[in-house]
Amino acid sequence: MKPHIIALIDCDSFFVSCERVDNPALQNQPVCVMTGGGSKGIIVSRSKEAKLLGIKMGMPYFQVQKTYPQAICLPARHHRYAEISRQVMSVIKTFTPDVEEVSIDEAYADLTGLDAVYKTSYADLINKIRRQILTKTKIPVYRDKLKELEALAIKNL
Ligand SMILES: [Mg+2]
Repeated sequence: MKPHIIALIDCDSFFVSCERVDNPALQNQPVCVMTGGGSKGIIVSRSKEAKLLGIKMGMPYFQVQKTYPQAICLPARHHRYAEISRQVMSVIKTFTPDVEEVSIDEAYADLTGLDAVYKTSYADLINKIRRQILTKTKIPVYRDKLKELEALAIKNL
């Protein structure tokens, strides 16, 4: 039996990326999204810049505010993230109908045989999917997450 080629597509810093869709001025800024609201907020998503500052997942908002006053902390807007997630998933489904959504920002996509359909390698096909997600939804799917990857070959599925 031919191995199945499954891509794991994982949007990084998804909540922050969604906030950047609606407010491009947040690009290149240390941005965090928190749930819990106000002083009870807990950090649940961080931009690369926020990670580099040293802000950790699960850190309380009051601590971030005190230690990293330059950080921009936004309250989570789950309804909006769900909306953008649906857009991302529908872009993936234009490549293959066989998509298993794992979470709001992650999906497995069965690409088996699509190298022949698109006349390209699986690695290029994954890049094409990545670029299309970025073009259509402005949500980045980082390459290092995808690696070669995440075209995992899973045998005898
Ligand atoms: Mg993710």
